[in-house]
Amino acid sequence: MTARPGRLVLLGHPVAHSASPRFQNAALRAAGIPLTYEPLDVPPERLDDALRMLARDNAAGNVTIPHKEAVAARCRSRTAVAERCGAVNVFWHSEGELVGDNTDVAGVDVMAKALLQGDGAGARVAVIGAGGAAAAVLCAVERWDGARVRLYNRHMPRAEQLASRFHPLVTAVSSVADALEGATLVVNATPIGMQDDAFPVALDALPPDAAVFDLVYKPEETAWIRAAREAGHRAADGEGMLLEQGALAFERWFGRAPDRGAMWRAMH
Ligand code: NAP
Repeated sequence: MTARPGRLVLLGHPVAHSASPRFQNAALRAAGIPLTYEPLDVPPERLDDALRMLARDNAAGNVTIPHKEAVAARCRSRTAVAERCGAVNVFWHSEGELVGDNTDVAGVDVMAKALLQGDGAGARVAVIGAGGAAAAVLCAVERWDGARVRLYNRHMPRAEQLASRFHPLVTAVSSVADALEGATLVVNATPIGMQDDAFPVALDALPPDAAVFDLVYKPEETAWIRAAREAGHRAADGEGMLLEQGALAFERWFGRAPDRGAMWRAMH
């Protein structure tokens, strides 16, 4: 960052459900920074107007569904990881120009390595889903020595397209069972389980020693993660990733680490 932002927003559609304002405002208070992090609900057809307004305000912030790819395309500059991912979840302005970064990737990296209890070397990863969150998973895993990914998506062409961007790390497969073969880490990168207690992968299909990572988060944990843990798997939902990407975003905006404890308490 070159100057403190004039405004901090979460740009998405919808955004009312997001936990980010709660923990970002707790971080701002703990740091004594006199700004409020505001949800900004912007439908796709208003994105360009909103970005012009945010440039005038020297704003910074986060980007969520459905704008991550569109904002990436509109940034004057992107970090290498945002470029690789094709998606931006953090932005700021530098001398009036829009800059984009992606801290979802580091959020995945931290949480997945904690689940694997190591550095990810040699991991066999099953990814369900082929959208922006799956791309963030692949960006993280491609830095793990000797790791491999089997990717399943209900629409196979999307899986093949994403796999081709990450060749030879990723093989697109045509069934969940194929994706799970030999997996040491199983990742749900779809919204399954967000609105109800549906499981993206049946419990008895999980390889017995696999760690289980659900990118979906809910106030009371997802039903899939609860059940996986009860069945003896190391398991985590997306809450830790959400907090970590937010903490790293705060570092990008203000050049210092936030109080992660205050952020965590604000979420609970
Ligand atoms: P996205 O770009 O819209 O992609 C969604 C993916 O899920 C697509 O591959 C889609 O398949 C698949 N999908 C959607 N509904 C499905 C269903 N009912 N059954 C099977 N597959 C389904 O979304 P995203 O940005 O990748 O986000 C995915 C999830 O990750 C969301 O729940 C989001 O909240 C979560 N997420 C969490 C964090 C975090 O910090 N914890 C960060 C980012 C995202 P098709 O291609 O076939 O449509």
